[in-house]
Amino acid sequence: MPPIRQTVLVVEDESAIAETITYALQTDGFTPIWKTTGREALTVLKQQPVALVVLDVGLPDMSGFDVCREMQKLGAPPVIFLTARSSEVDKIVGLELGADDYLAKPFSPRELTARVRAILRRAHGKGSAVSAATGWIHDEARCKITYLGRPIELTRNEYRLLAALLASPGQVFNRDQLMAAAWDDPGAALDRTVDAHIKTLRAKLRDIAPDADPIVTHRGLGYSLREE
Ligand code: CA
Repeated sequence: MPPIRQTVLVVEDESAIAETITYALQTDGFTPIWKTTGREALTVLKQQPVALVVLDVGLPDMSGFDVCREMQKLGAPPVIFLTARSSEVDKIVGLELGADDYLAKPFSPRELTARVRAILRRAHGKGSAVSAATGWIHDEARCKITYLGRPIELTRNEYRLLAALLASPGQVFNRDQLMAAAWDDPGAALDRTVDAHIKTLRAKLRDIAPDADPIVTHRGLGYSLREE
């Protein structure tokens, strides 16, 4: 399997720091997105899967703490705070904001990328399989699928359908293949049953991320799961 480029959202208003960070992340095989305000960062999180957020505490429009709180409502990915003052560190620890780590400025870009890698390893190492598609965690032992940090309530057939798509992101599955994957007795189900289940799956995913639309329709062919 080719290496997966995970998206890291960098929220930092100082361009010199942001440039250093994004360059280091890119060199390390990540896809960085840079935003300078909390509002813009939250918009990105509503629109696309992000593996991790590097979040400056002192932003021009709102504090990193408030951004973090808002993020948690969206099913937040792991967070590394960037702090300029030790009082901010006390706050991170004291408020139990769910931050996964923090770095005090100035820090080395290598230190940051090392932390990013460590957190992603930890986040994904809890007995769950990280799908090659960003934003998904499939806990096969518990038959649970998490999208953008939020567990999805699935019926048995929906679960099996989604698990099949997740097993091979980007691959186009026709209806027969999906039927065979999700139903014990495929012959008994009608073709449009797959379509009906895809429709309810999409509605559930829309509740989590209204604009992400991770299931792709290939007209006359079938469905695939978006790779990024
Ligand atoms: Ca700042």
